[in-house]
Amino acid sequence: MLKQFTQQKIGILGGGQLGKMLCQAGSQWGLDLSILDERPDFPAGQVCPQFTVGHFRQAEDVLAFGKDKDVITIEIEHVSVEALEQLEQEGILVYPGPAVLRIIQDKGLQKEFYRQHQIPTAPFQLMASSDAIRFAVKSGTLKLPFVQKTREAGYDGRGVAVIRNVEDLEKLLDGPSLIEELVAMSKEIAVVVARDIHGEVKAFPAVEMVFHEEANLVEFLSCPAAITAEQESIAEALAIQVAQAFGTVGLLAVELFLTDSGDFLVNEVAPRPHNSGHHTIECCETSQYEQHLRAITGLPLGSTRLIRPGIMLNLLGEPGYTGAAIYEGWDECIEWPGVHVHLYGKAETRPYRKMGHVTVVADTLEEARDRARFVRDKLKVIA
Ligand code: ADP
Repeated sequence: MLKQFTQQKIGILGGGQLGKMLCQAGSQWGLDLSILDERPDFPAGQVCPQFTVGHFRQAEDVLAFGKDKDVITIEIEHVSVEALEQLEQEGILVYPGPAVLRIIQDKGLQKEFYRQHQIPTAPFQLMASSDAIRFAVKSGTLKLPFVQKTREAGYDGRGVAVIRNVEDLEKLLDGPSLIEELVAMSKEIAVVVARDIHGEVKAFPAVEMVFHEEANLVEFLSCPAAITAEQESIAEALAIQVAQAFGTVGLLAVELFLTDSGDFLVNEVAPRPHNSGHHTIECCETSQYEQHLRAITGLPLGSTRLIRPGIMLNLLGEPGYTGAAIYEGWDECIEWPGVHVHLYGKAETRPYRKMGHVTVVADTLEEARDRARFVRDKLKVIA
């Protein structure tokens, strides 16, 4: 029998900002949450008194942390799956399940999973090494351009190389990798879905990544996405199909490409709270963090209805500054109504480090965007 939700001991692997926001959501209901990560001064340590020092990639640390818990979840997928398998065998609930994590940790296995389940995704092949890729290009079996992704431990685009011509072959990344067709796309969309222990699913409204015109970096996340109602329902159905195929419990963030020809392709998924769901705290009836906790403790899922439009921008460490963080332009920004600033409480800033995020809400998306631009130009993390 499942214990009542407030009596369950919940362990979270990872103490970064996603762990912090999970704890903030859980504290509203007085949940018994504990964190495992290397240092108690990490973001989650500031809001979660039950902090175990250890590493979520180390099997011994995960086993020791997990043995007295009822449920284990994650805020990062690169954790010791072996330890989670053992904990599961010992009767501890592990959400997302180790089998799901094993597939998602490896971009190659993830793509093969989509192929097996007839989930639309960019055409791909797997390669053992950068030498094998060079050989395939030379012998004409692999055509330029393409996208190379390392199979393991890619994060925020760091394990991705776009190879457009022969000169770009210099940029090839080492190790086993996934080669994908370079997709011509009009938009990048994310749909965060939650699946509960009974297999019920609910999707949050689709989010659109808005790219900076020159830097080609995601600048804003915008909700609702500027897509038609029909596209929204196709994206939602696809994200739900993926969550059901994995049979995961908890959140699954599904990143999609909307191609120039109008089709959706699944790029990749994350079985945890996601950057593209931060805005749900202010914009939706239930936040992604609360939804994840509902799902893993056996509670019914909450409404995902969008209450008001919002724009989310990540607050990154300003290039050229490393050291104790200083927040410049703070006062002018928080003077505006609808500007919700979240600082993760990281002591040190570094160029492009995620130091916080801002969700700007307004009656219309246009108004939110204007205000988000103001925040983007004014609020800086320096040292
Ligand atoms: P990460 O896991 O590091 O975030 P992604 O697979 O999400 O890596 O890729 C990062 C970005 O690279 C995507 O958001 C997209 O803009 C671009 N990208 C990835 N795959 C392709 C592809 N097949 N075709 C075109 N662009 C791609």
